[in-house]
Amino acid sequence: MGVKVSELLAKVPTGLLINGEWRDAASGETFEVENPATGETLATLASAGSDDAMAALDAACAVKDEWARTSPRERSNILRRAFDLVTERKDEFAALMTLEMGKPLAEAYGEVTYGAEYLRWFSEEAVRDYGATLPAPEGTIQMVTRRKPVGPCLLITPWNFPLAMATRKVGPAVAAGCTMVLKPAKLTPLTSQYFAQTMIEAGLPAGVLNVVSGKSASAISEPLMADSRLRKVSFTGSTPVGKTLLKAAADNVLRTSMELGGNAPFIVFEDADLDQAVEGAMGAKMRNIGEACTAANRFIVHESVADEFAKKFAAKIGELKLGNGLDEGVTCGPLIEKKALDNVTSLVDDAVEKGATALIGGKPGEGVGYFYTPTVLINVSRDARVAQEEIFGPVAPILTFSTEAEAIEIANDTEFGLASYVYTENSDRMWRLADGLEFGLMGYNAGVISNAAAPFGGVKQSGMGREGGAEGIAEYTSLQYIGVRNPYANA
Ligand code: NAP
Repeated sequence: MGVKVSELLAKVPTGLLINGEWRDAASGETFEVENPATGETLATLASAGSDDAMAALDAACAVKDEWARTSPRERSNILRRAFDLVTERKDEFAALMTLEMGKPLAEAYGEVTYGAEYLRWFSEEAVRDYGATLPAPEGTIQMVTRRKPVGPCLLITPWNFPLAMATRKVGPAVAAGCTMVLKPAKLTPLTSQYFAQTMIEAGLPAGVLNVVSGKSASAISEPLMADSRLRKVSFTGSTPVGKTLLKAAADNVLRTSMELGGNAPFIVFEDADLDQAVEGAMGAKMRNIGEACTAANRFIVHESVADEFAKKFAAKIGELKLGNGLDEGVTCGPLIEKKALDNVTSLVDDAVEKGATALIGGKPGEGVGYFYTPTVLINVSRDARVAQEEIFGPVAPILTFSTEAEAIEIANDTEFGLASYVYTENSDRMWRLADGLEFGLMGYNAGVISNAAAPFGGVKQSGMGREGGAEGIAEYTSLQYIGVRNPYANA
């Protein structure tokens, strides 16, 4: 690691960012951020309450018109400078994420690249926010459509990708000309605090981005969402919290983008290249310690190749090194908190009680951190909790099927619909699966598919709206239609 931890932590602002200034909470309250690998306190931050949240919204509203009038090129340039700065600071951002979230350092570097790319992508999209012009069919008016910033936004992010979840909201909001209040997860606010400071250094004017970290999420979100000046909420997190926010959004008919939970099927057919499938499975399952909304949650494998796949997969998983993500050679870090460790432990115990066997792993790891050993479970029954709930840990349950129709039926048997993965050498089958699977994303012979240029998002209870791609900026704009009288029509 190219940075000293104490020097790095000293660079991270600990206050609330309101109208371009870092300040204490009105109440004077603070909260602590912990390293999940060691239990050590990393920093003490100001904890925003309702008054601070409202001050942040006041700041966002005060500059919203001026900011909306800035040129797309100006906003593009700020995002491009932010991309360059985040990239220059890759050592710092990577170390911060490993410290507060636990992911292995090499993966944290991967997230810096992935997260920064949203800034570059939306710096390019900022100047390409197309509208249309077309004649009304009867010819009497010319129809013009254009996009306008939706207005002040509340952005709420989860702890599992502390940089990328912020950049993929802040990037398009800046590009579209919106002002923002960002509420990071209380478990991993340091990356967002440092990112916000980086945005200021990139030239973002005061009040455009306000950051209110805090120990009570609802104390921040409730007054904001009750204020009719707020026009949008973009949320990434769990489905139950997403539902609460959707209900609150109804009162002021807020625009909403919801990136919620997943229960991804990873389907391996009898004609798949099994080595390629195992490699894809490692990425789809073990990336981010299994704590990803796109993580493969159920391995659905044809009965004729299930044994071979399980053995090869378990052998690869056996090569993982569990430990503090900052340590050399560690490829699997701790879970985020004690509650997460208890949940993964109980999911595996429940599966074993219902007949599953752990080929490898199957128990918590050693040490003071929240470690769980990378695990492969075979003979998992469909009614085991591990097959129904989001695992969010390094546990791979394997279920079997005998026909293509059965594979699709098992895969769709969930209220979630975010990511899915299909391994087969038969491209006709790939298209049948694309038709049959009820998921917003599908990886075909590919285990990691997130990309700033792709429209990311789910169906069913995995959410609504898309982040990234050409679609990402549209989430932060309202389409306006202008009908222009054409006096020469039909003349
Ligand atoms: P979470 O508990 O729902 O928290 C997400 C964010 O919402 C945090 O900032 C949290 O603040 C805040 N929050 C919690 N309760 C709230 C409330 N009542 N009102 C307003 N905000 C509230 O989820 P998580 O455990 O951080 O993240 C894991 C979940 O996120 C998983 O389900 C995962 O699948 C999902 N996820 C989805 C995507 C996607 O793109 N679809 C991407 C990543 C993660 P506090 O930290 O203060 O509690």
